[in-house]
Amino acid sequence: MTEARVMLPPGSVIGILGGGQLARMLSVAASRLGYRTHVFDPAPAPPAGDVCFRVTTAEWDDLSALERFAGSVAVITFEFENIPPDTLAFLAARDAVRPCVRALQVSQDRLDEKAFLRDLGLVTAPFLPVNGPSDLAEALNGIKAPAILKTRRLGYDGKGQVRLAEGDDPRAACAAIGNAPAILEGFVDFSHEVSVIAARGLDGAVAAFDPGQNLHEGGILRQTTVPAQLSAPQRSDAVLIAARILNALDYVGVLGVELFVTPQGLVVNEIAPRVHNSGHWTQAGCAVDQFEQHIRAIAGLPLGDGNRHVDVEMENLIGGDIARLPEVLGERGTSVHLYGKAEVRPGRKMGHVNRIRPAR
Ligand code: AMP
Repeated sequence: MTEARVMLPPGSVIGILGGGQLARMLSVAASRLGYRTHVFDPAPAPPAGDVCFRVTTAEWDDLSALERFAGSVAVITFEFENIPPDTLAFLAARDAVRPCVRALQVSQDRLDEKAFLRDLGLVTAPFLPVNGPSDLAEALNGIKAPAILKTRRLGYDGKGQVRLAEGDDPRAACAAIGNAPAILEGFVDFSHEVSVIAARGLDGAVAAFDPGQNLHEGGILRQTTVPAQLSAPQRSDAVLIAARILNALDYVGVLGVELFVTPQGLVVNEIAPRVHNSGHWTQAGCAVDQFEQHIRAIAGLPLGDGNRHVDVEMENLIGGDIARLPEVLGERGTSVHLYGKAEVRPGRKMGHVNRIRPAR
């Protein structure tokens, strides 16, 4: 599209699919750049609703609502990857969708994602498709336990996966993930997990943030620390991996790449075609954070640089952690971000804090 190379004029409306905390923070960044956002979410009163220009509450298959939404925005982006393919195809026929539909398709299916990464020459865990207990038994002859069985689609935050030790019953493992089409992954013996948040602009320019080190608890991100424990070559490797993925997809926007650090080098776990929880530290560490970077990219503005100016520890406030709010509000060098969620539930991300320290 020719107009796609043009900067979106101030006052333009950016459509966002999904209205959670990521859309909320994208909306704030968009408004700082003079844009307005229109959020589409099936759930009423989404967190982004407090800060965006318009909200459409409708189902993903409500074609007339999608038509009106598409007609009201200049460009469409999304805050999560599990948008139904038919919805995306419908919208992509009407508006520029950034990042591209292909990026989303690749990341929606763990098997396609792993094959895409492998075909790019990147290192992943060994993997095989599994469509039932007999497949799994056979796959375990090649990929020995310990291993992880993951559903191909709709898994997140450690959901839809089961670990397999030697001698475990394939039938029970498949049942544990609802007998859904799956992928068996060999267990990667990593020392720690890191992620790179990187962006690619409409002009093809790439900018990466410093890799962050991630700590998960119960499959949910608990903390990201920058700088990560990485050697200089590992650090540039991480950035090169992200750049290769961005270029291969002709990607526009921010992408998160999760990596395992092993003595043999970096192993790619998965990609997220959107702003990412492990990039929240950029709000306190960089002049241009991941949310502004994403808006800049999809609006055709020049990208900001990814330079980090301080050390940061990002901690998620999950479920009952929110009771610590008075305490964290009193901490020096700590900024607090709340998502406006009224109901506290175990495992629900309620907000996060960024603690800064002078760069070492
Ligand atoms: P995922 O949903 O794929 O991000 O997996 C959630 C978490 O499970 C990761 O952050 C890792 O801690 C762990 N994990 C996933 N896949 C593997 C693997 N192949 N080997 C070892 N640990 C893994």
